[in-house]
Amino acid sequence: NRHIVLHSRPHGAPDASTFALRDGAVPAPAAGQLLLRTVYLSLDPYMRGRISDAPSYAAPVELGAVMVGATVSRVEASRHPDYAPGDLVLGYSGWQDYALSDGEGLSKLAADMAQPSAALGVLGMTGFTAYMGLLDIGQPQAGDTVVVAAASGAVGSIVGQIAKLKGCRVVGIAGGADKCSHVVDELGFDACIDHRGADLPGRLAAACPDGIDVYFENVGGAVFDAVLPLLKVGARVPVCGLVAHYNDTALPAGPDRTGLLTRALLTKRIKMQGFIIFDYYDQRYGEFVAQMNIWLKAGQIRFREDVVDGLEHAPQAFTGLLAGKNFGKLVVRLADR
Ligand code: NDP
Repeated sequence: NRHIVLHSRPHGAPDASTFALRDGAVPAPAAGQLLLRTVYLSLDPYMRGRISDAPSYAAPVELGAVMVGATVSRVEASRHPDYAPGDLVLGYSGWQDYALSDGEGLSKLAADMAQPSAALGVLGMTGFTAYMGLLDIGQPQAGDTVVVAAASGAVGSIVGQIAKLKGCRVVGIAGGADKCSHVVDELGFDACIDHRGADLPGRLAAACPDGIDVYFENVGGAVFDAVLPLLKVGARVPVCGLVAHYNDTALPAGPDRTGLLTRALLTKRIKMQGFIIFDYYDQRYGEFVAQMNIWLKAGQIRFREDVVDGLEHAPQAFTGLLAGKNFGKLVVRLADR
């Protein structure tokens, strides 16, 4: 049973010493347990928080422990009355080939699900994050200008498409020409700005001549700096993530700009609200899945996955995720379904 453990806590970006691949015997299920074979492992930016011991909303992974992560698995053996070998389940097995489960926290996926990895992305945590952050906090109205950071990514790509369905004008921000053309040509955003090019503030202002009503924050850093002066009176800013800062080891150099931000919040009556998607699962997950299935079947939402083959490549793929190397929802394929 190959598994990847947290070997050392990184200072800055994770590197070759952060994770270690280990092997061991495949465990046997006891009465009431299942043996799960991981088929897909989700890699997500929040994992950077888990490998740090700084205080956060969830406990850190201990040194030497298997890395956490959401998974789609096949039931390999079952001594649990509700599951049979061959069932596909969504769970939280982490970065390993096999895991035991007592059924707690598992949900069954349809046996005929065309693309089971979607349960980790557009139909799972990242799609749900896009849906709740945009609709609950962003409150988009038809005709609004909505700007979406990390627009080709798992969350951002869905935010922008839902905003289009709500009648908004949608401008994405992404890294590089390929991602930007995908966002406009395949996902139907009105425009997309490459944040790696020169004069991001000038190009974003030109793409948003009437200002910004909703800014979906995934990134922070220079992208937020370009957005702030364009926010309109009454703008809404769902703060979903700050991926540009996850590897930071200190506050950025330069003058303290807290006053600039709070003055904009005050004078423009801007609502800026952070959220953690776990808070919404009890109340709204069912509604989201039903709605997203309708949109997907109607071809109104498209999604792209970045599939990496082999558990041993998970550390490098994860490090790349924090540097914009992924193109779409990043998942690792460990086995055939
Ligand atoms: P993505 O698929 O969007 O991948 C991350 C992307 O972030 C990269 O591809 C890169 O895109 C972009 N990025 C990385 N560094 C920078 C930088 N310095 N400046 C600008 N862009 C950068 O990941 P997800 O969709 O899974 O996550 C997006 C955000 O949502 C993250 O911040 C994540 O933490 C957050 N999140 C929050 C949740 C919550 O409950 N609040 C739940 C799920 C996700 P590019 O090449 O375009 O720059």
